Amino acid sequence: MAWRYRCGTCNTTWGWMSKTNASDLRDRHRDQRHGGGTPDGEEFISNAASATDDPQTLIVFGALLGLGALAWIWQQITGT
Ligand SMILES: [Zn+2]
Repeated sequence: MAWRYRCGTCNTTWGWMSKTNASDLRDRHRDQRHGGGTPDGEEFISNAASATDDPQTLIVFGALLGLGALAWIWQQITGT
């Protein structure tokens, strides 16, 4: 998984790198441009697949939905 750092104050986004490098970059950037403070709108962006692209997440989500449906049906039967 790769990460990129974005500084909203400078409106700059850096390239993809490892998480360690991205957080090093953030620390350096804070020191050099923002006097060690936290700039507005900074964020880390990862290239991780979204939940819908990950079949394993879908299976877990489906299982949870199934459990919820079972609980709902059980409530209807038992009338509580
Ligand atoms: Zn900045």
